[in-house]
Amino acid sequence: MTFDYDLFVIGGGSGGVRAARIASGEYGAKVGLAEESRMGGTCVIRGCVPKKLMVFASGFPALFEEARAYGWQVEPARFDWPAFRTRLEAELDRLEGAYRSTLNAAGVVVHDERAVIVDAHRVRLASGQEFTAKHILVATGGWPYVPEFPGAELAVTSNEMFHLDELPKRALVVGGGFIAGEFACILNGLGVKVTQYYRGAQILRGFDDEVRGHVANTMREAGIDIHLGTAVTSLERTAGGIRVTGTDGSEREVDLVLYATGRRPNTAGLGLEALGLQLGRTGEIPVDRFSQTAVPSIYAVGDVTGRINLTPVAIREGHAFADTVFGGKPTAFDHELVASAVFTQPELGSVGLSEEAARDLEPIEIYATAFRPMRSAFAGKPDRVMMKLIVSKATRKVLGCHIVAPEAGEMIQLAAIAIRMGATKEDFDATCAVHPTMAEELVTMRKPVRTA
Ligand code: NDP
Repeated sequence: MTFDYDLFVIGGGSGGVRAARIASGEYGAKVGLAEESRMGGTCVIRGCVPKKLMVFASGFPALFEEARAYGWQVEPARFDWPAFRTRLEAELDRLEGAYRSTLNAAGVVVHDERAVIVDAHRVRLASGQEFTAKHILVATGGWPYVPEFPGAELAVTSNEMFHLDELPKRALVVGGGFIAGEFACILNGLGVKVTQYYRGAQILRGFDDEVRGHVANTMREAGIDIHLGTAVTSLERTAGGIRVTGTDGSEREVDLVLYATGRRPNTAGLGLEALGLQLGRTGEIPVDRFSQTAVPSIYAVGDVTGRINLTPVAIREGHAFADTVFGGKPTAFDHELVASAVFTQPELGSVGLSEEAARDLEPIEIYATAFRPMRSAFAGKPDRVMMKLIVSKATRKVLGCHIVAPEAGEMIQLAAIAIRMGATKEDFDATCAVHPTMAEELVTMRKPVRTA
């Protein structure tokens, strides 16, 4: 049987674009790709990229303050949100264009409309046009999830945060994960009075407990009013803003409520159930280690599979799919030891096991330090950096590394190489320090603070 395409990709985000580009550009497959929104997906259009630019924007007031301590005379500064937003939009347009050019150069045919699956080898576009494909790759990503409660329609999600008409004066951020922490810090840095509600006992569930506490304390010191064990009962529009009633009986008025309560895979209405595919509890597509679904011609990569929801993971899954199916090199991306960074201020960088997870597995030593870095100490700022290594007593391997510091994302990327290679504590110790830096503490922690 001949097909219109060797591969049809649904979704032009990080995973889909990589898979399409490699399958077509490197392996000569005939590839079509459909995207119903803007090319680039969550990361480029409404996630990592605009978020990081907002992190940069929000960091300046602290820098101005620090500059004064270093002898600079700094005039009072004022943030012009519309001016920033215009530049941000222009940058996203540029990046979207770059994604399109890359796909064009690789020979991928782009369809700017929604596609759904008709059967194991057929897709239908919103315009009604149908194509057959030997393989179909679902890379439709995820979408913010907001629970149902009275007034939920008054809340915004991270999708809207980049397009606000004006910055609020008072904001409530609901959630305790990546997005909640990052936006609480961004808004706080931009001068918004921020309250954060988290339903659990400590924000950033899943990360090392001590590190979570350190980030939360630093956020509080920076002025964010974090309420733990607290959820929203209702939201109500008032003359002056939005009235928030909490499960603790409290009432407060804010101008903006941001719900960052997780994301759900974009699988609704795609036609997957009709093919007999059983979706997971939150709608995720179950796949094997080669990203193949139970329907052999259909694969899925990225957030839609609910494995690890990170851009570089989606990219690697997409690449591995193309190598496997079109390059004749069966490749399974290894989801172990994926490092990540939460762009709170300061950042949290993490790779491997938390102390809590590691001590359930084997006897461990914990090396940890918290200190005021030279730069902040000179400026008289209270910020403290935290570095923590979790070490196996039996093998001496570093099982986990956790850093809370400015640029922790940059540091953890490098530490992750060593840890992936199986570095032991003695390898860290044998590595000479780079002085004066914050990261040198990673190779100078001589005695465990405790064992477990
Ligand atoms: P997360 O899963 O990180 O956090 C969701 C938060 O919402 C948790 O604190 C969760 O609480 C809470 N929550 C869930 N449901 C409810 C509810 N019904 N009521 C109140 N609170 C609720 O999701 P995010 O939306 O922050 O981010 C999605 C994913 O995107 C992340 O997991 C991450 O993989 C990725 N991401 C990565 C970034 C990076 O690399 N820097 C940045 C942003 C996102 P609980 O802990 O109790 O479950």
